[in-house]
Amino acid sequence: MDNRLSGVPDYYKILNIPFGSAPDLIKKTYRNLAKIYHPDNKASGSAEKFLDIQTAYTVLSGINREKYDYLYKITFTASYLRDTTNSVLLPANRIVYTSTMSRLAKMGLMKTGLRNKDRRKFTGIFHDLDLLIKKEEIIHRILVRLPLTVRILCPNCMGSNIYCDVCLGIGTYKSSRLLHLAFEPHLIQNGRIYELELSRFRPDNFIHFKKKFLKVKLNIF
Ligand SMILES: [Zn+2]
Repeated sequence: MDNRLSGVPDYYKILNIPFGSAPDLIKKTYRNLAKIYHPDNKASGSAEKFLDIQTAYTVLSGINREKYDYLYKITFTASYLRDTTNSVLLPANRIVYTSTMSRLAKMGLMKTGLRNKDRRKFTGIFHDLDLLIKKEEIIHRILVRLPLTVRILCPNCMGSNIYCDVCLGIGTYKSSRLLHLAFEPHLIQNGRIYELELSRFRPDNFIHFKKKFLKVKLNIF
């Protein structure tokens, strides 16, 4: 398996998680893999793989992650965008929000004032959306484009003028941007849930997604 591109090691691929994974997911995955590949494990241990996993975890859980993610975006993500032959863009109707009105109405949970957190306890659904992927598509990279609410720092006053005409003194304004996700074939398993940290996907320094984390479940049919 080649985990490098132009000399940059793909730490996300080594841990078998997508770019932008949340800290909890990184830690959980690292612990599982470390158990499997620990040199003391007679069945599946590998000193070389164990070292790779440790290096990947050290970078992705430490202060160098910001720098690494930047490098990752300009090497790996740029190569995804160039190579569209091996990619499938998931149609919008196969992106299903678990909190859609119809689904909740069916379950009788459209009570006013019910917060997302409480709603999750009732439904037992702890992820935000389902991605429905066809069996014949799993040999390809799956690209997902998701419109999400963002807050944009006011370009007129940079959030520092309470008399600003553009943002009316609020400092930011609400808008919508596409979140771009990519799932390579090695990441696509039925039922797998990935928690992503949306600050990793910010289009630029002036825009941030309103939601902090997004839990995505892959479903193969
Ligand atoms: Zn302003």
